[in-house]
Amino acid sequence: MTPRNVVMFSGGISSWAAARRIADEEGTAGLVLLFADTRMEDEDLYRFLDEAARDVGGELVRLADGRTPWDVFFDVRFLGNSRIDPCSRVLKRELCRRWLEEHCDPAVTAVHLGYDWTEEHRIERARAYWRPWRVEAPLMRRPMLARWQVRESLLSRGIAPPRLYAWAEHNNCGGFCVKAGQGHFRALLANMPERFAFHEAQEERFRREVAGAVAILRDRTGGDFRPLTLRELRERVEAGRTVDLFDIGGCGCFDEAEPS
Ligand code: SF4
Repeated sequence: MTPRNVVMFSGGISSWAAARRIADEEGTAGLVLLFADTRMEDEDLYRFLDEAARDVGGELVRLADGRTPWDVFFDVRFLGNSRIDPCSRVLKRELCRRWLEEHCDPAVTAVHLGYDWTEEHRIERARAYWRPWRVEAPLMRRPMLARWQVRESLLSRGIAPPRLYAWAEHNNCGGFCVKAGQGHFRALLANMPERFAFHEAQEERFRREVAGAVAILRDRTGGDFRPLTLRELRERVEAGRTVDLFDIGGCGCFDEAEPS
């Protein structure tokens, strides 16, 4: 049977809330929760994914290319950043699009994203990207929910939020994201230093083996932009120097900022 509703089920609380709303409004017949695994997810994401999918109902479909974002950066010889994200293009968008093409009919199936009322700018980009699929954002409809209300709702159903939410804005890629800013990586360093060290080492390897002058982060000190490596960020923190804590950045895998 062609699915009527496919929710991009990323492992975050917003995609759970979007799926919950679809299940409540339209039932779970023909409902698919589509998860694309980057093989770099936090361990607790899988606990949350199972509990959240059980709560919603419908069919949980897991996809995986098999590579991690770092594998993709080395393969395409390009380090992702806040504007160009080969990682989510390859590991999420193209993978999910292939699945849609094989299992769904654009005349029947609606694709749902967990964007909320604060993300109007992203939904238009997503709609353009996912054509011919009809893209909906259930959380942009009334009643609008604040993030704390989504969290409360989750707790009231006996599901603990993913553990990364204790310090991060999202539950993607194990707390890593090439679209994140200095403040986010500062928090990763404070909360998961081993994981930070892994990404720092990967970035250093990329600079050695592929392109020496690139970095995930940017430094705006003095008004000009220049690449800021994770190693430099860590050294600044260790030396007690200032980093831009307000530069949190974003994390969106299902719309593309620029074609990559
Ligand atoms: S969360 Fe960030 S790093 Fe991970 S796939 Fe999405 S854009 Fe890439």
